[in-house]
Amino acid sequence: MKIDSAKIEALRALLAVPRRKVVVVAHTNPDGDAVGASTAWREVLAAMGHEVTMIVPNKYPYFLDWMPDIRELVIFRTASERGLEAIRAADLIFCLDFNSLSRLEGLGEALAENRSAQRVLIDHHLSPDEGFDLQFSYPEASSTCFLLYCIIERLCGTEVITRRMAESLYVGMMTDTGNFAFSSLTPALYRALAVLVEKGLDVPAIHNNVYNGYTEDRARLFGYAIHRKMNIIQNGTVAYMSLTEAEMRRYRFQQGDSEGFVNYPLTVRKMKMSAMFLGHHKFIRVSLRSRGDVDVNLFARKYFDGGGHKNAAGGKSFVSMDETIARYIRSVEEFARDGGLDSPPLL
Ligand code: 5GP
Ligand code: MN
Repeated sequence: MKIDSAKIEALRALLAVPRRKVVVVAHTNPDGDAVGASTAWREVLAAMGHEVTMIVPNKYPYFLDWMPDIRELVIFRTASERGLEAIRAADLIFCLDFNSLSRLEGLGEALAENRSAQRVLIDHHLSPDEGFDLQFSYPEASSTCFLLYCIIERLCGTEVITRRMAESLYVGMMTDTGNFAFSSLTPALYRALAVLVEKGLDVPAIHNNVYNGYTEDRARLFGYAIHRKMNIIQNGTVAYMSLTEAEMRRYRFQQGDSEGFVNYPLTVRKMKMSAMFLGHHKFIRVSLRSRGDVDVNLFARKYFDGGGHKNAAGGKSFVSMDETIARYIRSVEEFARDGGLDSPPLL
């Protein structure tokens, strides 16, 4: 990936000031990419002698518990005093794997209060907010971890990458590409993976830790969601599923348990687009996935006040589950009329 040299030099200059007080933040409902990028970047910064605090708005899913340094993450929702203290003292703030402070809940407001710190964005989502002092926004990157790898390579060379960092970076690269199955799988990504493997990475062990660490309840919830809650419309090309809070409670739902559910309908022949609606106490979380040319980022922006990437996006709905579903069906009809589903036929 071609990263602007001027930006690398600007980053080098920011980090040349010794012993900076740095805060690294990642998005709400932190996933493998958000956590992996945070822990890997922290290790690079710490090795340079900076003092680093990593903050996330809420807890990461339990199947990431094994990740290196994950316990060092300050969970803002439950440890806000510690987070605020670090934010107030910070002279440099890195924003990883999100494009808008609005995706950080209360942590976004806390960050906005520190007006003197310099802000650097390192992210791969479309349409980032303005107002960063330095912006590494590369939507063509398959993950923030891959983007970060490219930045580290240019900034200090891959020699600084330890085995632990390699594990963190690999988790983000693997999870954001659906285990190397989605788009943006470039030769450069595979070259980066080769370097990580040279660091002693145990690929099957990481795969096992991330994808085979769920609970029995989660497996049964998945069966229930597919068997009882998957609906297919638009001639077999569009699917949706929903889970209410009561249904989730029945299966002792833990954060992260629905990870990947929304992808499953896309395993059906001819399916182009899939949605998942998850009940929340304040709103309904909308997850969207698509195959090929169908652009769910556009769909999420237009109908669900959200966004994301072309093939993976999300948003929110503030009406009831039934109304949300009715709205989705109407929106899909309009989207289809506007040509949104007119992609070349899929197998
Ligand atoms: P997920 O379905 O895994 O929660 O989210 C998929 C992608 O959609 C994420 O990478 C994120 O970029 C985007 N996304 C999810 N929810 C929102 C939202 O509420 N607003 C925006 N702008 N993007 C979202
Ligand atoms: Mn990401």
